[in-house]
Amino acid sequence: MLPFIDLGAQRRRLGHLVDDAILRVVNHGQYIMGPEVGQLEAELSAFCGARHVVSCANGTDAIAMVLMAKGVKPGDAILCPSFTFAATAEVVAWLGATPVFVDIHEDTFNMDPASLEAAIRTARELKLNPVGVIPVDLFGAAVDYDAILPICEREGLWVLCDTAQSFGGSYKGRRLGTFGLATTTSFFPAKPLGCYGDGGAIFTNDDEVAAILRSIRNHGQGVDKYDNVRIGLNGRLDTIQAAVLLEKLKIFDEEIVTRNDIAARYAEGLGDVAITPIVQEGIVSTWAQYTIRVSAERRDALGAALRERGIPTAIYYPKPVHRQTAYRHYPCAGNGLPASDKVSAEVIALPMHPYLDEEVQDGIIAAVREALAK
Ligand SMILES: *Cc1c(COP(=O)(O)O)cnc(C)c1O
Repeated sequence: MLPFIDLGAQRRRLGHLVDDAILRVVNHGQYIMGPEVGQLEAELSAFCGARHVVSCANGTDAIAMVLMAKGVKPGDAILCPSFTFAATAEVVAWLGATPVFVDIHEDTFNMDPASLEAAIRTARELKLNPVGVIPVDLFGAAVDYDAILPICEREGLWVLCDTAQSFGGSYKGRRLGTFGLATTTSFFPAKPLGCYGDGGAIFTNDDEVAAILRSIRNHGQGVDKYDNVRIGLNGRLDTIQAAVLLEKLKIFDEEIVTRNDIAARYAEGLGDVAITPIVQEGIVSTWAQYTIRVSAERRDALGAALRERGIPTAIYYPKPVHRQTAYRHYPCAGNGLPASDKVSAEVIALPMHPYLDEEVQDGIIAAVREALAK
């Protein structure tokens, strides 16, 4: 079976660099908040332009920490997509607030501004207090910030951008990380910028929010760890993971270029037999996933045919969050989420990583074409 994401190829390319970086940490012994953590935060700040970078334990904590910093509480509504990884809505529920689900555009998989407006009305009809929006840049491509941000501003809602899949990408020439109040990302190994375990980060230009986030990350510390001024958590990034990320960040831009070349090749090879993803003008995607759509009746057969040829596929996401047992009692925008329901039956993701060579990719394209020709 081909790898769906080939982390081994990246490791071979980096050679001894990552191993040396890990060993340096093992030897200097500052496993918690060692010098690599601060260095990574400085380099990520230079990379994306955000004034403050607060690294943390994972992408889920990153979202939760921002919600905690904003004092999100029961009665508050947070508007977020349903066609996403459950973590986005999960943390809203952690804090006793209510996720209100927003539909997507079926062609970009990202938040539909009209549905966002409907969801704000729905929240108010339910006597909830809408306070914030979490747009998710799904599969690597930014949401249409020029459409989403003015709605949030008009309605007095803060914006938390979940770039777990899109960090490194850009919107109209501006790198993600500086839109809205704050931006979060994940360094889970399979994300475009992944470490060798769990990791995450928060980006913000707001000095006060950054200071609160640093306190929350360390049990709500005040002047020190044994002075607790608020409820926090243990949300720190391991020094070893920071060391791994420092090495990977050096080649990240180049990998994003390669991912885009590979995406273009898929679009060219498959555009006439499947619905290939559309990335809006002015957006650079990181292609966390390369997700095509075929009719619901054919999707499973396509996956099975590819599997027979040793080609793995994945379905992100087979069931939108608002249909999940744990979340189905939460409200949805207006009269439902038809696009989220529709695409969840049609999507299928193909192998995508920067080390997918042309010959292998041509084989995948040929296999998809053959399976769909039947
Ligand atoms: C992966 C992911 C997260 C959670 O990140 P973890 O590091 O796994 O906690 C949150 N949101 C989205 C959209 C993700 O893809």
